[in-house]
Amino acid sequence: MPPRATTLTDEIGIALGNLADAATAPFAPTLRLGVTGLSRSGKTVFITSLVHNLLTGGQLPGFSALTEGRFIGARLAQYPDDAMPRFAYEAHLKALTGADPHWPESTSRISQLRLELKFQSQKLLRGMAGPATLNLDIVDYPGEWLLDLPLLSLSYAAWSTQALERARRAHSAAEAAPFLAALGEVDGTEEATDARAKALAESFTDYLRASREDGRALSSLPPGRFLLPGDLEGSPALTFAPMPPPAGSARSGSLYALMQRRYDAYKQVVVRPFFRDHFARLDRQVVLVDTLRALNAGPAAVADLETALTEILACFRQGDNNPLTRLVARKIDRILFAATKADHIHSSSHDRLEAVMSRLVAGAAGRAKFAGAQTRSMAIAGIRATRDGVVKQNGDTHEVIVGTPMAGQKLGDVTYDGKTEVALFPGDLPKDPERLFEGGDPIGLNFLRFVPPKKLARNGEGHVVLPHVRMDGALDYLIGDRLR
Ligand code: GDP
Repeated sequence: MPPRATTLTDEIGIALGNLADAATAPFAPTLRLGVTGLSRSGKTVFITSLVHNLLTGGQLPGFSALTEGRFIGARLAQYPDDAMPRFAYEAHLKALTGADPHWPESTSRISQLRLELKFQSQKLLRGMAGPATLNLDIVDYPGEWLLDLPLLSLSYAAWSTQALERARRAHSAAEAAPFLAALGEVDGTEEATDARAKALAESFTDYLRASREDGRALSSLPPGRFLLPGDLEGSPALTFAPMPPPAGSARSGSLYALMQRRYDAYKQVVVRPFFRDHFARLDRQVVLVDTLRALNAGPAAVADLETALTEILACFRQGDNNPLTRLVARKIDRILFAATKADHIHSSSHDRLEAVMSRLVAGAAGRAKFAGAQTRSMAIAGIRATRDGVVKQNGDTHEVIVGTPMAGQKLGDVTYDGKTEVALFPGDLPKDPERLFEGGDPIGLNFLRFVPPKKLARNGEGHVVLPHVRMDGALDYLIGDRLR
């Protein structure tokens, strides 16, 4: 029987954590919103935009609480959990809106922020009692960490077999060669030293990094903390690598035994607490996906993204015999799958991007139900760095986007300097998303990174207005029903 993924103590821990939430805010209910996605999917930009738009009552026509006059306002509040880092909202906003606008630093660890939302409740009794309050706790964490869930039910030997099989597969052979060579020089039965373990772990991490950086892969392989260690960089729990089982038994003090111990520690002190203390306490979840980048990189990248999403989504699924997902399942009641950076295409194509996002998740999730949670797909941009335009050429009209590509971005023979505005025809997404999944040719989008917008308007109260795509729809779906 595989080891249980949670223990009874975990279950009590989760229950107590939820009770504590209720106790800190007896009259103000709390909604914990998880924001995740693979590295560079747009989490930092999304949260900064969401918070700023709520704080300043931004341009949110699709956010019904605001348009119907029920939303009174938001303010940043102290977060009850002193042990968790705070999302650096002010620094990120300054990066985007300061004298020299640039993209903020990306997510590399878990962080959180609490917003206190005031609204006029439609419920008769509450309405008579004055404005109601909802604490919105936003929890930002790397999607790579979710890829660790399967490790909880894998022994070191079983994980090693899987990881080594992957490393030897033809398409990772080149990236894995130095690690496999280093592994070939050690013997699991030899006396363990920290130096040996560290060298192997580094070589394994280099392989994981290289397989991510080949321009094709968008996802990384577990352990999730090897590339995004958060605050655990250099700790022994992250200093291990897969090894083939030694002939005979691995005596204590051997390199194999040390690796095994550290792998178990990784599960106990890193993976399990993350799922128990953070993931299991979320009420709602948004999963951000850089769908356009995958489409642009071609069918192999789309397939890779689909695989990563399947693994990520397993954490939200009901039905498998995993007590941890059963627990989580009870809590999360809405999941939004958002294709980010929709400003890379003309707004007339946003519906098609949404259809691709739906197809990607449908494929990844199969028929599995998300534990009774509602799900929705949307195409969004936390910050709109381009605007729509039209170009007429030889009697034809093309829908283009207008923006300033970042310095060093290339298209054909042209390298951009970061200052010149261009009108770009990004290409067409197919009407039928199925085409993208049939293993045909890449659709050949013209995909460039753009600098964030430079001249931002201000609203009547002097606040900067952040342009976006469908953040109002995202907000309405994620929290709208709780502001009634
Ligand atoms: P994270 O790793 O998920 O936190 O990703 P970030 O939020 O840091 O985004 C990574 C990069 O994607 C940014 O530096 C931007 O270049 C780009 N990006 C993110 N969101 C948007 C968006 O809404 N529009 C555009 N044009 N680019 C974006």
